[in-house]
Amino acid sequence: MNFIRLLQGDAQPEVDLKRTYDAVVIGSGAAGGMAAHVLTSRGMKVLMLEAGKKLDINKELKSTEWPYEHPRRGEMPPGHHALTLNEYTIRQPPYAADSKFPKVYSYVQGWSGPDYSKNIVVDEKAHPYTGTNYAWVRARCLGGKTNIWGRLALRWSDYDFKAKSHDGYGEDWPISYKDIAPYYDRVDQYLGISGVKENLPYLPDSLFQRPTRLAAAEVTLRNSLKKMNRVLTPYRAGVTTDGLKHNKYRSRCFGRGACNRRTGGCDIHAAFDSPTGLIYPAMDTGNLTLRTNSIAREILVDRKTGKARGVAFVDSESGRPYEAHAKVVVVAASTLESARLLLLSKSAAHPNGIGNSSDHVGHNFCEHVMGPGVTGLVKERIGQPKTIDDGRPGGFYVPRFRNISDKNPNFIRAYGFEGSAGSQMFPGNANDTPGFGAGYKKTVRDYSGAFISMGGFGEVLARYENQVLLDPAVKDKWGIPVLRFNYKFGENEKKMCEDMAVAAQEMFELAGFEILNVDRAVLTEGWSIHELGTARMGTDKKTSVLNQFQQSHDVKNLFVVDGSSHVNASCQNPTWTIMALAWRSCDYLATELSKGNL
Ligand SMILES: Cc1cc2nc3c(=O)[nH]c(=O)nc-3n(C[C@H](O)[C@H](O)[C@H](O)COP(=O)(O)OP(=O)(O)OC[C@H]3O[C@@H](n4cnc5c(N)ncnc54)[C@H](O)[C@@H]3O)c2cc1C
Ligand code: SF4
Repeated sequence: MNFIRLLQGDAQPEVDLKRTYDAVVIGSGAAGGMAAHVLTSRGMKVLMLEAGKKLDINKELKSTEWPYEHPRRGEMPPGHHALTLNEYTIRQPPYAADSKFPKVYSYVQGWSGPDYSKNIVVDEKAHPYTGTNYAWVRARCLGGKTNIWGRLALRWSDYDFKAKSHDGYGEDWPISYKDIAPYYDRVDQYLGISGVKENLPYLPDSLFQRPTRLAAAEVTLRNSLKKMNRVLTPYRAGVTTDGLKHNKYRSRCFGRGACNRRTGGCDIHAAFDSPTGLIYPAMDTGNLTLRTNSIAREILVDRKTGKARGVAFVDSESGRPYEAHAKVVVVAASTLESARLLLLSKSAAHPNGIGNSSDHVGHNFCEHVMGPGVTGLVKERIGQPKTIDDGRPGGFYVPRFRNISDKNPNFIRAYGFEGSAGSQMFPGNANDTPGFGAGYKKTVRDYSGAFISMGGFGEVLARYENQVLLDPAVKDKWGIPVLRFNYKFGENEKKMCEDMAVAAQEMFELAGFEILNVDRAVLTEGWSIHELGTARMGTDKKTSVLNQFQQSHDVKNLFVVDGSSHVNASCQNPTWTIMALAWRSCDYLATELSKGNL
């Protein structure tokens, strides 16, 4: 398949739905892309069904466009509205139901330059949900959320996989770090990751390419944190900084200054995205057939064997129903959509939803809590020459430091911080600086590189009662029942957030930064966009949905290879772990299929 044609999002050829594929993969994000890569490289014939469109992503992102080249400086057209924090908290979902705006998006469209991502994220009017407050960010297009993700690519450790052994809460995973480590290595080498080795047992190192440079204030903070026995490491970015000889669709990072401008998005594809990183190379094997605009609505079951026999889906454009058939069904629609699909797939053999004999599908839903953080002024940087600090995929990461060898009296588990400092293309302080004329401009310039800020990401405990289920009445634009949330942060998260704010302030003070602001408020559930755990793995069929290879306990030719399989949320970002696990499981799947065991 021709590279240029693929990137231009041309019409897809008709897909043969009469044949039985070796596997059908549902979803094309990090998990689905990885499944397609691994299975096709093992010689399997794979059909990928993706609910969204294949966009001409380079036309959408345009990351070399300057603000003055855009008619509204990157803003969305009138009538396009991003939900605000107040709307998420004061109102109840479905948030867009009575909106006066023709188009309503999740909060990420309130970030800078939202015009570039408005076709990537979903219109909330077409995709409602109900229940408790939740800021659900979804991307329905080829590649899913990987088109706009923040790229912080972290490994998890046995502090996560064996967390119960550490503090007694929840369940241990059926795997440990040594089982997944070889697959992290493969993901690092196949997709590229930049960073610096730190030798931390709770944040294992990757096989890094060249790191990005820390800004001056970040170096000050790194040095100061050493006194507290804490670490600041350059952003571990799922970005190739040295290039990838084996992938013609991607380029090494140019550090062009646009990275910080909007919700992710890199149109030279230095930052990992599933289409250029995984799907186009998989198509080049000749083993992958892609059908976009295909919304899976039910996993079909063979009445005689109880096994999965394929997928019923709806064409999102025509509304027509279709069926696709395969020897194995691989679900990778993202944590919440995968749970929805399993619950929608009710049959005589699986009256509770497919793979749900344990009644754990939708439960143990977990993620990261956000909100607390700190902003400081670095006085030595005032009036200093400007540096290009936004020409890099991220700033810094401060890994967890609580509940490692100590035991915090107020909460279990941990949090880490993401942050950045330095000069940016648009000096954010211009909006808040008082005055006018030459004096105003000088103050803005003098102060523009002198700020530093960071915000926490904390583990939300997996609790059975935190759940998504099908709403009995509300349906989406295609008539498919939507999810109802029954999900709240608990006391552990609240106590952890109190500590986050105090610790953040303390670290900045010790570094000598003037504290400008300390955020203490907890953001709405969902804000982290790291939803996990709705079909967890385990050894006990009564309390888990999948085995250690993300294979359904109930239906042996059904695999769920995204974050829904996670047993807990860690405090580290999940995508690298999602892909390493999917690689491991799909390797196993291919071997089992070849032995006739599925
Ligand atoms: C702004 C932003 C910043 C982020 N930053 C980070 C970060 O720094 N680090 C990190 O680790 N993670 C980050 N994430 C999260 C990361 O993007 C996700 O963890 C990752 O994309 C999950 O992969 P996935 O394949 O499970 O889901 P997705 O990438 O969402 O892909 C799922 C795909 O399935 C499709 N689909 C859904 N339902 C159906 C259906 N019924 N039928 C067919 N197809 C379906 C969707 O259209 C979508 O394309 C961020 C996300 C966003 C939006
Ligand atoms: S800085 Fe690197 S990763 Fe970011 S948009 Fe530019 S090339 Fe892509």
